[in-house]
Parts: sequence; structure tokens; C-alpha cells
Amino acid sequence: MEQANEVGPGPESRPAKAIAVVSGKGGTGKTIVAANIGTALAMMGRKVVVVDGDLGMGDLGLYLGLEKSPVTLHEVLAGEASIDQAIYEGPAGCKIVPSGLSLSGYARANPDRLRDVVKELSGRFEFVILDCGPGLSKENTIPLALVDEVMLVVNPDLICLADALRVRMMCDAIGARVGGVVVNRAGMSKAELAPREVGSMLGLDVLAVIPEDDEIRKSASLKVPLVMKKKESPAAAAHFSLAQRIAGRPGEKAPRQEAAAPNEQKKGSRRFSIFGK
Ligand code: ADP
Ligand code: MG
Repeated sequence: MEQANEVGPGPESRPAKAIAVVSGKGGTGKTIVAANIGTALAMMGRKVVVVDGDLGMGDLGLYLGLEKSPVTLHEVLAGEASIDQAIYEGPAGCKIVPSGLSLSGYARANPDRLRDVVKELSGRFEFVILDCGPGLSKENTIPLALVDEVMLVVNPDLICLADALRVRMMCDAIGARVGGVVVNRAGMSKAELAPREVGSMLGLDVLAVIPEDDEIRKSASLKVPLVMKKKESPAAAAHFSLAQRIAGRPGEKAPRQEAAAPNEQKKGSRRFSIFGK
């Protein structure tokens, strides 16, 4: 895929909705969710960028077939390149900022510079989706404070929830707003927690329940997001509803290609709620 540097200002001068997709435990499906909601928003005609904020183990670019990105977020965070040089064309017109794969790039990247990256992109897009690394290391905690809302992605098991609870507590401690929780890989085991139990244990709204679906693994190996590859599947439908909720249009029939609609959220405030609370 080619580099996409022609990114102008958003349809409105208001800042983007910036959302960090986070988890306590690794491998809960953050990258899958970030890539699919980014693509779904783009399919709805919205102006969106997905940023791979997992600086050490980022694989958003791999998932979307962007393995040969000459400039990545690593170089931007090292002060060696501008953000424009690291924005690539993704599926359905969704823009992608991949993370680098090299260890030396990781070592040079300064996560404190992420603040400027999110600020810059927020001025140009309607939505900035930041796919984060798991846990509470310094570099994975920085994004929590940079976004309008944090979205937790969990699998419905106790260990995963215990780790997610720690992230939620960290968010409370630093004043980051948690918009809700996405329960991913639901239906994998008879012993798993029900989505409503997950919500009440975390004290959060359940924003979406995404079923366990082998099509997700297949779409990852084909490097095409599920919402494009198999948009009628239940897991794709769950991603579409989540994207509609983020876009402030729950219940809209999806997917469809249309011009970007005016944003319905209140202008002039960074502390509005993304998820309609
Ligand atoms: P994270 O970014 O949280 O580390 P990933 O998005 O990379 O997690 O997903 C981890 C693995 O789980 C991948 O192999 C992915 O294909 C698989 N996966 C994620 N969500 C689902 C799902 N709903 N059904 C089946 N497999 C899934
Ligand atoms: Mg990931």
C-alpha cells in the first residue's frame, strides 16, 4: 500500500475523537478491534486514522499488509521523520500509522512524543484510534492520558478481567475517562463470564460483544479486515455496531459508503463522551 500524505483538515475544525484501545492482558484482540473499527468508520465515509501505539510488539501494519513501511511511528517518535511521512493508505481509505518492527527503532522511539502525534492527528481527522500495548508499563500508560476516552478490550475470563481492572484503576488515578468495555472472543468456553458480569465487575458499559470467530484469524492471514472480507459475519456485524456507536449513530444500517456527515457531538470540548453517556 502506498503512503498517503495528502491529509487535509477534518470536515469540521473541532478536534477528533481520540480513542485508546487498551487491555491489561496481552492478546485480547486490541489490534483486531482497532483495525476493524477504523475500517468500518472509513466504510461509513468517516475520516479516520488508526495508529499503532504498541511500540514494542506492534503488528497493526502486518495485519493490514503494510510490512514494507519505510517510515514508521518509531522514526516519528525518534524525531527523525514527520508524522506525514508515516501515514499510509489503508483499507477503505482508512489511514494507518504503523509501528516499526526493528529493535533499534524501538530503542530510539521516545513515547513522550506520542502527545504531539495525537494532537497533530486530532486536528486533521474525525477519529484517531490508538491501538495500544497491554499492561501498565510507562510507554503503555502514556496513551491513556492523551485521548478523549479509553476503550478496554477483554476476553470473558477472570484473569483477563483482573488485569483489566488494574488498567481501569490506573485510568481513575490519572483522570483518564474509560468509555466502556468490549468483550471479545465471546462464546469460546462454557465456563466463561457473561458480558453483563464483565460489565458489572469492571463497573463499565459493555460497548460490544464480539464472538469467537475463525474468520477473524483467516482475515488476519489474508491481511484484509473482517469488516471488508466477510461483512455479514456476526463478528463483523459486532464491529460495525461498535463503529456506529463511536460515530454517534447507533442502529444505522451498515456498511455503506457515504460522505462524511457533520459530527453530532458537542463542539469545543475535549471531554465529551464518545459512547453517548
Ligand atoms: P492484541 O492486539 O490485544 O495483542 P490481537 O488483536 O493481535 O490481540 O489478537 C490476538 C489473536 O487473537 C490473533 O491471532 C487474532 O486473530 C485472535 N483473535 C482476536 N479476536 C478474535 C475473535 N473474536 N475470534 C477469534 N480469534 C480472535
Ligand atoms: Mg496488538
